[in-house]
Amino acid sequence: MEKIKIPTATAKRLPLYYRYLVILNDAGKEKVSSTELSEAVQVDSASIRRDFSYFGALGKRGYGYDVKNLLAFFKKILNQDTLTNVALIGVGNLGHALLNYNFKRTNNIRISCAFDINKAITGKILCGVPVYDMSELKKQITDQQIEIAILTVPSDTAQKTANEMINDGVKGIMNFTPIRLSTPAGIRVQNVDLATELQTLIYFLDSEKENNK
Ligand code: NAD
Repeated sequence: MEKIKIPTATAKRLPLYYRYLVILNDAGKEKVSSTELSEAVQVDSASIRRDFSYFGALGKRGYGYDVKNLLAFFKKILNQDTLTNVALIGVGNLGHALLNYNFKRTNNIRISCAFDINKAITGKILCGVPVYDMSELKKQITDQQIEIAILTVPSDTAQKTANEMINDGVKGIMNFTPIRLSTPAGIRVQNVDLATELQTLIYFLDSEKENNK
């Protein structure tokens, strides 16, 4: 499929649209309007129309969007037909919780291997996922053609571990550590920080209170 350049904000909303379209399709719904979609995914309908406009004419005026067509389109765009294996580095409190979750709601992503330095857990299978010693990182990443890794190690070892992962072939890092990693060009880092998310939520609630005064 031809690669379309879209804004990051649009790219982040695509999985939301996709998940809702799956629900509609499962419920036997044939069409959906941008207003309906907007209420369900909590994105304003102007943004939805703009997002969809990057992919050409996906809907007809006055008719809305054909659920099956849209679903097939997003399935392709989001690579929902391909299973992506992901590695997890650092099986402590957070890593263990992520292993346990293992993206059960999505059927095209799974953590297929985990790594740690703790001899008490390496060589074991936790939540159905083998935990390897870090010395096996390169071999597993190569054998399983893994390009994405989740980083859940202590912050003092985050940069060193990221360097090691990149050296071994990882191209994308989902970084849960508080460290802002420095990485060479071509490596993509997605930072996840629950504290920042909560701060944002607090900010919005506070500003709504201010506005309602
Ligand atoms: P933890 O100490 O319970 O787990 C860390 C694990 O990493 C341990 O199993 C340890 O053996 C392993 N480890 C240590 N050095 C390693 C190395 N060099 N290579 C591979 N594995 C190694 O810590 P935690 O509570 O699970 O937190 C993990 C990270 O996630 C920390 O950096 C923490 O700050 C961060 N965190 C982020 C969020 C968030 O919202 N982003 C929330 C909680 C924790």
